[in-house]
Amino acid sequence: MIATAADSRRLFPKKTVRDVDVTDKRCLVRVDFNVPLERDGATIVVEDDSRIRAALPTIDYLKTRNAGLVLVSHLGRPQDREPELSMAPVSRRLAELVQGEVRQAANVVGDEVEAASHEIGPGQMLVLENCRFEPGETRNDPELVRRLARLGDIFVNDAFGTAHRAHATTEGVAHELPAVAGFLLEREVSVLRSLLKEPRHPFVVLLGGAKVGDKIGVIEQFLGLADVILIGGAMCFAFLAVRGVPTGDSLLNEGDVEHARRLLELGDRSSCRIELPRDLVVTERLEPGGSVKELDDTAVPAGWMGVDIGRRTAEFWADEIARASTVFWNGPVGVFELFPAGTRTIAEALAESDATTVAGGGDTAAALERFGLASKLTHVSTGGGASLELLEGRRLPGVEALDDA
Ligand code: ADP
Ligand code: MG
Repeated sequence: MIATAADSRRLFPKKTVRDVDVTDKRCLVRVDFNVPLERDGATIVVEDDSRIRAALPTIDYLKTRNAGLVLVSHLGRPQDREPELSMAPVSRRLAELVQGEVRQAANVVGDEVEAASHEIGPGQMLVLENCRFEPGETRNDPELVRRLARLGDIFVNDAFGTAHRAHATTEGVAHELPAVAGFLLEREVSVLRSLLKEPRHPFVVLLGGAKVGDKIGVIEQFLGLADVILIGGAMCFAFLAVRGVPTGDSLLNEGDVEHARRLLELGDRSSCRIELPRDLVVTERLEPGGSVKELDDTAVPAGWMGVDIGRRTAEFWADEIARASTVFWNGPVGVFELFPAGTRTIAEALAESDATTVAGGGDTAAALERFGLASKLTHVSTGGGASLELLEGRRLPGVEALDDA
């Protein structure tokens, strides 16, 4: 897919850690350690460390080249420096993963943090406190940017999940220091851009999930690129409604019906097929043990809601995936938390395929992890919103701000 160095430069025309000498330099590394936490008795621990593991190639590279690492990330949505949103549990997990010492700073910026950044030796690591503890972070405040810039000699952005945000630690500071990408950011952007630039055909796009509004732009983009778009999840009900199919109590946002109507019209005029489910699984109540029916078609009776694609649809779509050369998947095709069958069939079809298989979206990635199939795909994106914005053709501020290659 990304065969040569020239290919990769075309897909990612920015400098990376390979292009700078990091030896004995302090590298301020923006990572996406926005991980789910859970309580274990009195302590808070990391529930899923996949985002931390995704940053390890860059961290290891910098460590072995004797850089000092100052790592910065946001965690959750703090309002007022909530202690339960401290980065400390993340630092502890990171220390386990790298089997080494990781120091945790008490603040994001300031004299003490600056002094600590100068004390870290080659290959050592300091994790700053949750950058959203600073109100200037999301405002991209110039004063915060200047204080951040004092913590490093080189800025490395490896946080794909926040690359669509122009914040102080993702965009602002990149203008103050030599600024390069880490391996995760480079790979994410290159793989996703390759879907837009040179997909091998047949190109199958599978969309599901609940947030229809967020995915309109992506559908529009893929209508010009893909051979077929398969639409499952709660998303399909807006499209079925346009076709006059009853949707019962299924999750349906009225505003999405007009979007769906326009997309179906665009689809009629494009060479891309839009496929909707042919059968559905419905339930009366969204809870374990509620009554469940497998419909032969997609007409949802009043009082029932569609919660998964039916068996026939799942097999038909698995077949489309098996014949594809490129597949992009975003959004579970059903409420996989309770009704995993359809989403599992799709995930297995992607895992078995020899095609270039790319998945994006927080819940899609979670489903793949749950089925133990994530490693069987070409690429599972760590960024939900960022991957959608990139695929809509929008520029990502966190990438644009890096030094050109
Ligand atoms: P992602 O995070 O992968 O981008 P979304 O956040 O858009 O995906 O959607 C994921 C959610 O969609 C899941 O929690 C799932 O339960 C829900 N979902 C999928 N199908 C349906 C459906 N038919 N009805 C209601 N919710 C659904
Ligand atoms: Mg989601």
